[in-house]
Amino acid sequence: MPESERVAAHAAERPPPPWHASAPAAVADTLGTHARLGLSAAEAAARLGRQGPNLLRRRPPPPRWRAFARQFRELLTLILLAAAVLSAAVGDVTDAAVIVAIVLVNAVVGFLQEDRATRALEALERLAAPRALVVRDGGRLALPAERLVPGDLIVLEPGDAVPADARLVTAAALEVQEAALTGESQSVAKEAAAVLAPTTPLAGRATMVHAGTVVASGHATALVVATGMATELGRIATLLERGGPETTPLQRRLAALGRTLVVVCLAVVTLIGGLELARGAPLAEVFLRAVSLAVAAVPEGLPAVVTLVLAAGLQRLAAQNALVRRLPSVETLGSVTVICTDKTGTLTRGEMTVRSVVTATERLRVTGAGYAPRGEFLRESGGPPVAVGTLPDVARLLGIALRCNKATVAPDAAGAWRALGDPTEAALVVAALKGGVEAGDREAMVHLEIPFDATRRMMSVVVAAPGGRACLESKGATEAILPRCTAEAREGRIEPLTPERRRAILADAAALAAGALRVLSLAYRDLDEGVITVQGGAAAERDLVHVGLVGLLDPPREEARDAVARCRSAGIVPVMITGDHPATALAIGRELGLVDGAGGTCSGADVDALDDVALERTVGSTAVFARVTAEHKLRIVRAWQRRGQVVAMTGDGVNDAPAVRAADIGIAMGLGGTDVTKEAADMVLLDDNFASIVAAVAEGRSIHDNVGKVVHYLLACNAGEVLVMFVAALVGWPAPLSAIQILWLNLVTDGLPALALGLEPPERGLMEREPRPPREGVITRGRALAIVFHGTLVAAVVLAGFLAGWRGEDDPRAVARAQSLAFCVAAAAQLLVAIGCRSDRLTAVQAGFFANPRLLAAIAVSGLLQVAIVALPFARPVFDVGEGLGGWWGIVAALAV
Ligand code: ATP
Repeated sequence: MPESERVAAHAAERPPPPWHASAPAAVADTLGTHARLGLSAAEAAARLGRQGPNLLRRRPPPPRWRAFARQFRELLTLILLAAAVLSAAVGDVTDAAVIVAIVLVNAVVGFLQEDRATRALEALERLAAPRALVVRDGGRLALPAERLVPGDLIVLEPGDAVPADARLVTAAALEVQEAALTGESQSVAKEAAAVLAPTTPLAGRATMVHAGTVVASGHATALVVATGMATELGRIATLLERGGPETTPLQRRLAALGRTLVVVCLAVVTLIGGLELARGAPLAEVFLRAVSLAVAAVPEGLPAVVTLVLAAGLQRLAAQNALVRRLPSVETLGSVTVICTDKTGTLTRGEMTVRSVVTATERLRVTGAGYAPRGEFLRESGGPPVAVGTLPDVARLLGIALRCNKATVAPDAAGAWRALGDPTEAALVVAALKGGVEAGDREAMVHLEIPFDATRRMMSVVVAAPGGRACLESKGATEAILPRCTAEAREGRIEPLTPERRRAILADAAALAAGALRVLSLAYRDLDEGVITVQGGAAAERDLVHVGLVGLLDPPREEARDAVARCRSAGIVPVMITGDHPATALAIGRELGLVDGAGGTCSGADVDALDDVALERTVGSTAVFARVTAEHKLRIVRAWQRRGQVVAMTGDGVNDAPAVRAADIGIAMGLGGTDVTKEAADMVLLDDNFASIVAAVAEGRSIHDNVGKVVHYLLACNAGEVLVMFVAALVGWPAPLSAIQILWLNLVTDGLPALALGLEPPERGLMEREPRPPREGVITRGRALAIVFHGTLVAAVVLAGFLAGWRGEDDPRAVARAQSLAFCVAAAAQLLVAIGCRSDRLTAVQAGFFANPRLLAAIAVSGLLQVAIVALPFARPVFDVGEGLGGWWGIVAALAV
C-alpha cells in the first residue's frame, strides 16, 4: 500500500484528537509519554520502527541506467556510432568493433565520473541534515530530526526549525514565524497553558507548533504529535521535487566554452576533411577520421571531470570541518578577500571562567580552571581566601548569578566537568558553586523568565523570595543594566546610586574588559506589584539595585593567531564583529594580532551614526566592531561589498540570517548556530573555529587551481591533436594519425591523467598569493597562451615523429611506420604534458615531483597500455599499428621529452 493510503487508513482507524484543544497532560496521556521526562529510548526506537522516519517523502531519483544512457545522447557519439555502422557496411569490421568498444568505455568512464560526483553530493546533503533537541529518559540529546517520533518531548530555542508538529508543554515568550505554513509574515505569539476550541483554524492554534515553521524568539518544550507526511506540512506538500545539483558559474562558463569549441572543431574538421578529399583520400576513411577527430577535439569529458573535482573538494572541505552546502560556493570561497567573524567561540574557545568579582566594597579574584567547581575567592589586595558567606553583597551576587541562569554543569563519564547550555551562564553556575551558594530547586523558584536577547543584552527572572515575596533578578551587559539601576547594594544595605558611583562602576567594567574579560552586571529588585507577564516583563526591569560585576575569561583559541597571520599573508582582511564590550574585543583582537598597536574599534552606535558612504570608508580601516547587533552586520557586509570585496561572514543567532545571506560566503556555526542561520548559509562550520574558515578558503583556492589544471590539460591535448591533423592536411601529407588512434589518444588523456590532475594536493605558497579577482575565469590570458603553447608543442613533436618515420617515401609501409611513431609520440607527449600542467607557478620539481602519486600512477598505467598495444602483435592491427617500433622507441622518448 502506498504511504499516502497507509496514512489515510491509519487516520480513519483512530481519528487524532484535536491536540490544540487538549491540555498538555491529556496529550501526554493519549500519546503514552511523559510531559517532563519524554519517552524512553526503547519506546522511541519501537515507535520509529512502526511509524517510519520523520521525513517528507521525495520523488525518487531517476534510475541509474538513465544516467548511463545519457552518455550516448551526445550528437558526436551518435555520429561516431553511425560511422562505425558505415565501416562495418564497407567490410571493416575490426574498425567498427573498436569504435563501438571505445564509445562504450568512454560512456562507462563518463558515467562513473558523474555517478561518483552525485554520490559525493548526496553524502554531503546527509551530513547537513537538520537536528533536533529532544528529551528522552529525562535527559537531553541532539538527534537527527528524522528520528523523532510522536510522543517525543522536544526543546525549542530561538532560531530552531520546528522539526515536527507538536503540542506546547511550556513556553516562555515564544514567538514563531509561520509564513511557510500559513503565509502570515509576522511572528505569532504562542502559549502552552491555553486550551483552544476544537474548531480553531490552523493559523490560530496558539498552543501548537508545526513542522516547517521557525522559532523567532523565546523558548519552549513540546510533545510531538505528528511526524513526516502526517504533519500539516506533509498534508499540504505533495511529493517534494528533488532539486538537481546546482551548476556553478564556472560549470556554466565551461559549458559555453564547450559549445563554442564544438562549432570551431566542426569547422576545422570539415576543412581538414575537405583538404584530404581534394587530395584523393577515400571518402569512407576521411569521414571516419573526421568524426573521430571531432570526438577527440571536443572536450566532452570536461563537465563531468570538473563536477568531480568540485565534489571531491567538497568532501575534503567536510573532512576539515567546513560543510559547503552549495556547489557554486566552492568557487567563491577561493576568491574571498574579507572574513568577518564572530568572536565568542570562533576566535576564542568559548569556554568561560569567572575570574573577577567586583562589588561596592570588594574586589575578588577567583581561582580554578574549566567548569570544575573547585576554586577560591581571594582579595586582590592579598591575604587568605575569603568565605563568601561573610560578604553579603558577594553572596547576593552569586545567588543572582545562579538563579538568573539556565545552564548547568556536570561531570561526564570520564569525570571532566562539562557545561550544558550557554558557556557564560555555566561559568556563573561554577562560580556560585565555588562560593558555596546553594542551588536550591531552581526550577521551582523561578516563576518567570524574560529571556536573554542579543539586542537587549540582558535577561531577568522572577523568583520566589523568603517571606512569600517575589524578586526580579537581572544580569547583562553593564551598559544595559546600569541605566535601569537607581540604587546599589553596599554591605547588605541599599544605597542610592550617585553619579560618581555610576561613573566608578563603568570605569571598573572598562578596566575588567581591557583585561580581555567579558563583563556582566548583576542586579535585583524586590517586587511589590502584582503578577508580571513575560510580555510586560521588560517594563518591570527598572529601579534595580546594582549588586556588582563579574569578569569572565574566554581565552583565544591557540590556532586562531596563526589563522589570522595566514589571512594576512594571503591578502585577506580578517575582521572581528562581536556583541561584546569594545575593550574586551580590542584586548582579544590584540592578543590574536588582528589589531596592531594603534588600531581602534568601531561600536554599533558609531555605525548607526555613519551613513552608507561614510561606513564604506570606515570599514576599510576597522578590524574590530564591538557591541554591534545583527542589523549592523548586514550594513557592514554591504559596505565591504560596495568596496568591491568578496566577503565571508559568520553568524549564529536568529537575527544573523540576513547578513549571512547577504555575504558572498555566509558561514553558520554548526555547534552554536541556529537552524535559520544554517539554512541561510553557504557553508556550515562543524567546529565553529575561525581556523577552519581560513583552511576552507585555502581549499577553495586549491580546488579552483585544480579545475584550471584539468581544463588546461584537456584543451592543450585536444588542440595538439587537431593541429597535427590540420597541418598535415594543409601541407598535403598523409594523415599522421588514424581514426582509431585518435579515439584511443582521447580516451587515454581524458581518462585517468585528467582526473588525477584534478586531485592535485594544494600548491605550496597557495596562501601567500593575493586573492584571485572574483571575475577572473578559469581560462585567464596567461592560461590561454599556455594552452596554445602546449598544444603547439605537442603538435610539433608529433609531426616531427611522423616526418622522421615517413621521410616523404611513397611506400605504404613507411607511412604506416610513421603513423605508429606519431601515435606513440602523441601518447607520450600528452602524458608528459600532464606533468607540465601541475602548476602555473612552480616547476614539477618545486611542486614536489612525487606530491601527487595518483598522477604518476595514471601516467604509468596509461603509458603501459600504450606500450602494450604497440608491442603486442595481436593488438597492433586493431590500432592500425603496422609492426613493432623496435629501435624507434628511442626517437619517441627523445621527442616526447
Ligand atoms: P559574538 O559571538 O558575536 O562574538 P558575543 O557572543 O560576545 O558575540 P552576545 O552573545 O550577543 O555577544 O552578547 C552580547 C553581550 O550580552 C555580552 O557582552 C554580555 O554583556 C551580554 N550577555 C551575553 N550572554 C548573556 C547572558 N546569558 N545573560 C545576560 N547577558 C549576556
